[in-house]
Amino acid sequence: MSDGATSDGGMGDAPSGGFAGRRRRCRGPRQETLLRMLENTLVHAERPGELIVYAGLAKAARDRTALKRIIEALTELEEDETLVVQSGKPIGVFPTGTRAPLVVMANSNLVGRWATSEHFYELERRGLIAWGGYTAGDWQYIGSQGIVQGTYQTLAAVADEHFGGSLAGRLVVTAGLGGMGGAQPLATVMAGGVALCAEVDPDRIRRRVDAGYLDRGTESIDEAVEWADAAIEAGEPASIGLLGNAAQVLPELRARGVVPDVVTDQTPAHDLLYGYVPAGMSTADAAALRESDPGELGRRARVSIAAHVECMLAWQDAGSVVFEYGNNLRAQAAEEGVDAFRIPIFIERYIRPLFCRGLGPFRWAAASGDPADIDAIDALVVREFPDNPLVGRWIPKARRYVRQEGLPARISWLAHGERARLALLVNEAVGSGALRGPVAFTRDHLDAGGVAQPLRETENMPDGSDAVSDWPLLNALLTAGSGADLVAIHAGGGGYAGYMQSAGVTLVADGTAAAGERITTALTADTGIGIMRYADAGYPAAADAVRASGLRWFG
Ligand code: NAD
Repeated sequence: MSDGATSDGGMGDAPSGGFAGRRRRCRGPRQETLLRMLENTLVHAERPGELIVYAGLAKAARDRTALKRIIEALTELEEDETLVVQSGKPIGVFPTGTRAPLVVMANSNLVGRWATSEHFYELERRGLIAWGGYTAGDWQYIGSQGIVQGTYQTLAAVADEHFGGSLAGRLVVTAGLGGMGGAQPLATVMAGGVALCAEVDPDRIRRRVDAGYLDRGTESIDEAVEWADAAIEAGEPASIGLLGNAAQVLPELRARGVVPDVVTDQTPAHDLLYGYVPAGMSTADAAALRESDPGELGRRARVSIAAHVECMLAWQDAGSVVFEYGNNLRAQAAEEGVDAFRIPIFIERYIRPLFCRGLGPFRWAAASGDPADIDAIDALVVREFPDNPLVGRWIPKARRYVRQEGLPARISWLAHGERARLALLVNEAVGSGALRGPVAFTRDHLDAGGVAQPLRETENMPDGSDAVSDWPLLNALLTAGSGADLVAIHAGGGGYAGYMQSAGVTLVADGTAAAGERITTALTADTGIGIMRYADAGYPAAADAVRASGLRWFG
């Protein structure tokens, strides 16, 4: 076993501030980097006291005791050992070898017949399970930049398809300014448009204004419409928070004759108890009813969602571009008899063509805490991938608009092959001392190889394989077998049960030759199985990508 006395990968003498002032606490730079990713995930928590990072209940660890033990375990972990984490609780450490993951985890998985909200909540209450979201439970969250980029990417694709490549002079109406939804106003502004965002909680509006993600807020519908009209007339990008319940203020906007160009939503409609606030209630009212009569709260939330979706459908019929942004809004409204699935999901329409080429939300974080490391990698990405238009369009905008929070980090959509190439170049730069410390590479689970979610990422697959969750499980097995540093299998979503199966992966570039080998095999495997999944489903573009990859395929 390693004695832990190896180079600290530059982390120990990084500049002060943030994470950077601290010396390495773990026995190797890979373990330290994973620990910093865990801490960084918690830096971004919407409710840090409860370890809840976003989406109502997505946790980075089961509870405070589990968190303390995970930190201790990572601190003592050797290079050839694997820490096993079950739904945010550390279980044990195994001797596995230096090519094995340092951490494996399974978060919120339930046997099919028992994968219901009732079972989930009961097990959660008894402290036996925790929901990890996509990137909270596996310590891959880099703050709202990830979702800003994803939302920008979606809006840019909408602009390309419907509005000649720009949202300038276009009105985007949406709701929810939470951990994920808070990115919507900034992403709209980056795409040139005017965002009008309904939000029921005044604190959330304030937080997004303070963070520079939202220009200003009002509780007056008239004032919001006035501001939006003025920005549209001037052709200036702008973002406006409107205090109110989406189920009430959207129909009121419609009654005033507003027909937005684009309509979507990021209220937490996947969760009727801890998420969507019913019409006529404050967040405090909803919390009180949750205690006294949770069934009634759920019923009221669903009725409100139905009204909300009816309004979106009316706008769709009037010519607005309307799509669901993956919050299970349509399924909840459909339970109330609304013909909600007339609204398309954003993935099938705008994102899946990218997944067919393995193009997806790749991201990296500088464990040194030094923003100069991210500046250097920005320059490298732009130089290395001049033909990837997503990079050319995004990186300059990200540098201008995205404030670094927590560990300096960047997300950029890169394709199969591009990801391994970039990570290898970065690994060399870490090794040569051009970067100040190790770099963690990871991705959203919302990616080619990462997820089965029949109401979102895998809705309407051409071969009908929407609900086959073998694919993310194969992804996890393959990335674990090919040298990834952390591999996670997640389930839950949509009321936290039964809606999705996904896999997450993290690689650490610590500048060593061994890291170079792990990066090459694991990142090739990660997107490789992704493009094969879409090729297998019948997408010709994915089959072309697989053929071009040189991987052996039996299609
Ligand atoms: P969150 O719980 O952090 O925030 C939700 C916000 O919505 C809160 O600010 C809340 O006050 C507000 N809200 C609740 N009910 C409302 C109502 N009726 N009207 C107006 N505002 C209301 O949740 P989040 O992390 O921002 O995620 C939001 C939803 O978007 C989730 O369902 C999440 O799963 C989904 N999402 C999906 C994707 C994806 O598909 N890739 C990406 C991001 C988010």
